[in-house]
Amino acid sequence: MHIDYDPKLDFDDVLIRPKRSEAPSRSTVELRRSYRFLNSQRQWSGIPLVASNMDSIGTMEMARALGPDSMTCLHKYHAADDLSAFFSDPVLRGHTFMTVGIRDHDLEKPGRVLQDTSLDFVCIDAANGYTKFFVDRVKAVRQSHPNLTIMAGNVATPEMVQELLISGAADIVKIGIGPGSVCTTRIMTGVGYPQLSAIIECADAAHGLRGHVCADGGCRTPGDVVKAFAAGADFVMLGGMLAGHDECGGPWVDPNDRRAGMRFYGMSSQTAIERYAGGVRDYRACEGKETIVAHKGPVRKTLQDITGGIRSACAYVGAARLKDLSKCTTFVVCHRTHNTVFDI
Ligand code: 5GP
Repeated sequence: MHIDYDPKLDFDDVLIRPKRSEAPSRSTVELRRSYRFLNSQRQWSGIPLVASNMDSIGTMEMARALGPDSMTCLHKYHAADDLSAFFSDPVLRGHTFMTVGIRDHDLEKPGRVLQDTSLDFVCIDAANGYTKFFVDRVKAVRQSHPNLTIMAGNVATPEMVQELLISGAADIVKIGIGPGSVCTTRIMTGVGYPQLSAIIECADAAHGLRGHVCADGGCRTPGDVVKAFAAGADFVMLGGMLAGHDECGGPWVDPNDRRAGMRFYGMSSQTAIERYAGGVRDYRACEGKETIVAHKGPVRKTLQDITGGIRSACAYVGAARLKDLSKCTTFVVCHRTHNTVFDI
């Protein structure tokens, strides 16, 4: 047994210190980022927010609404024919991930969709990205599809980021074990890693190899999204913040009146497991829960709140571009230790 006494931070443990600067105007802050991916060698540019591949969030309607600037990770329960039809539209290809799991039949799915379209992005998703089996599956997809941009996860520590980028030949590693709004992994298993520290440590490891990270889970406010980018995330994935919008897949509490809200549940919750796997097997526990979220109308408005928050944060610290936010950031630790300052 080993105890790590280094303090680790969550979003709530820090604030970003404002700085005197030749402050850029909010309206001129450049939110678009351009990335060249490590293994696919493809390029992408846009505002690096990603709708989560949860079944109510990663819908085709969400992809249409967030595109072409931001990205959507379609959930993995779409039928291959529907995906082929969707990805045949050239406008939707450049900003939408298809998601696959790691079962045998999942491995064939990108190939089937690729036969008919030129799919660019795949997300290979497992609740626990720490197994050799997972790394081997990522590697197998890379070998079959050298030009796909692959996002793989989830993990929360640098050695596994390196493993997925090097051995798995992934391009983007998804970071987050336990921070999700409807996740109960920390409660059920005691396993997890404070998300802000996970992002800082994993981004550093990925960037050293010219790989990328997507911070996934735990953002409840635009300020949390800002902190994730300031910590070094290349992409930020959102579930709960995008729940309850018109573009979501529901289920709505009252299908005839969305004002009653939307049921939002974790993909490892009893609700999801009953829906997609026919029930919870007796050797495992659920690691997700269900809540009701208010109806929030069109997602564009929420997106504007988030991008507005990022623009304003950049102006506060003197970053002319989102790209510069991390190096302009000084986090002030405000909960556990008093006013300790970390420069990153
Ligand atoms: P949020 O933005 O809602 O805080 O977090 C979204 C993320 O939570 C998802 O992208 C996914 O990684 C994670 N997640 C979704 N459902 C579950 C679940 O049932 N259990 C766990 N452990 N994580 C989940």
